Amino acid sequence: MKYCIANWKMNLTIEESVLFTEELQKKDLENHNTQIILCPSFISLKDVKKSFLNSEIQIGAQNMHHELEGPYTGEISVKMLKEIECEWVILGHSERRQYFNEEDIIINDKVNTVVENDLKPILCIGESLEQRNKNETFSVLEHQLSTALNKNNIENSHLIIAYEPVWAIGTGVSASINEISQSIKWIKEFLLEEFSLKIPILYGGSVSSSNCIDIGEIDGVDGFLIGTSSLDVEEFYKIYLNMNER
Ligand code: PEP
Repeated sequence: MKYCIANWKMNLTIEESVLFTEELQKKDLENHNTQIILCPSFISLKDVKKSFLNSEIQIGAQNMHHELEGPYTGEISVKMLKEIECEWVILGHSERRQYFNEEDIIINDKVNTVVENDLKPILCIGESLEQRNKNETFSVLEHQLSTALNKNNIENSHLIIAYEPVWAIGTGVSASINEISQSIKWIKEFLLEEFSLKIPILYGGSVSSSNCIDIGEIDGVDGFLIGTSSLDVEEFYKIYLNMNER
């Protein structure tokens, strides 16, 4: 199974989100080897889910609090996501790490809560440009993975890892084929050795309809987490189509 995941971040109103889903469903989505997952804002989740009632498209949240309930103003719990039949949760996105001080230890709690409550985590990892330039890429990935997955019951969790080098996110410049290939290979080997895990690894960072064929052909890339290019239904669909042709 390949994955084509849209992260809309803080974009698209409820009306715009529903319009996107209606346009998407007019298209031929018959390839059953590629799972589309849309991750709209919290307030759009329910309406987007409703419009996909008879469809194989799934929905995901962009974040979640690790506690089940309590005095956490402004937060959303796993129970609330389950209630609206949200299937997936993006965790540890670099924007959450950068702007909201989310550290690996908190991401570990979140992975735990998601897994214990039978939702599916999409865990984002990736190095900054400074870390890459200092040759720290693999040690950063190792720290992120070993902390976030520590003491988790992840064997049957449907966990997906999204490798997203921070410097490639939202910049229009993706990582090179060589950089992606090396990191994905390292992640696969590490997960197998340390956690006996063989799970999908996605690439994210300025994926577009013009680079998705080359990146998609890299050995070990099981799909994409897409930000900017997922906001336009035609562009998103082109990426999905290109994935299906491989
Ligand atoms: C992302 O936010 O996960 C992402 C990959 O964004 P973009 O595609 O815009 O680089």
